[in-house]
Amino acid sequence: MAKICLDPGHGGSDSGGTGWGRKEKADVLDIALRIKKLLEAQGVSVIMTRTTDKDITIAQRTSLANKEECDYFLSIHRDAFADASANGSSMFIYSGASAATEKKAKTIYDAVIKAAPFRKRGLKKGAANYKDYGVNKNTTMSAALLELGFITNKGDNAIFELKKDAIALEIAKALCSIVGVAYKVKTVSNTESGDKKVVYTVQAGAFSVKKNAETQAAKLKAAGFDAIIVKKE
Ligand SMILES: [Zn+2]
Repeated sequence: MAKICLDPGHGGSDSGGTGWGRKEKADVLDIALRIKKLLEAQGVSVIMTRTTDKDITIAQRTSLANKEECDYFLSIHRDAFADASANGSSMFIYSGASAATEKKAKTIYDAVIKAAPFRKRGLKKGAANYKDYGVNKNTTMSAALLELGFITNKGDNAIFELKKDAIALEIAKALCSIVGVAYKVKTVSNTESGDKKVVYTVQAGAFSVKKNAETQAAKLKAAGFDAIIVKKE
């Protein structure tokens, strides 16, 4: 039976990134549990590094996946940055990743971008600020670390909140294709919020932020959202 390890980042005393009243550790556990449910409905075995809000080291996460001999390892995170205008989704794989690992990651990344109108920051080898993430380096199976938008960006949080079921579904489908399981459509509850309004607030004179907001708003509109830009004088 195909076996996938889902790794919701952070947990317990480590909140991960925070912004707009949200905590990364909670967002990533929420979506990981949704993906778990969808995968199990397809007969895929899922190993979770955590299912509750608890502390767990990187070494514990990777040794669990290695001991369980999982076929694939996906670490799920949300980005954060001091500048609240930073946005978009990225994905990271080991700097020495094989072409096969890169291809698998691309399948997942493309699925995320298909499901949600995050700005595409891209699939990268290595890590954002240092050479490799431990989860990518120390796992013995193909692995990737996914950043589902910036928790410090209001627009990305709106996308995450409104699209989390769609994101979970597309990731589950991608993971199934990676481990060779044909995804059969099942009746799953899609509890997307009815509120599709995304509001960007732009300070007067903040030209780069305004331009960014306009690009995002256009993308969201194309995806069926009611995105508006409010100018604060
Ligand atoms: Zn994180």
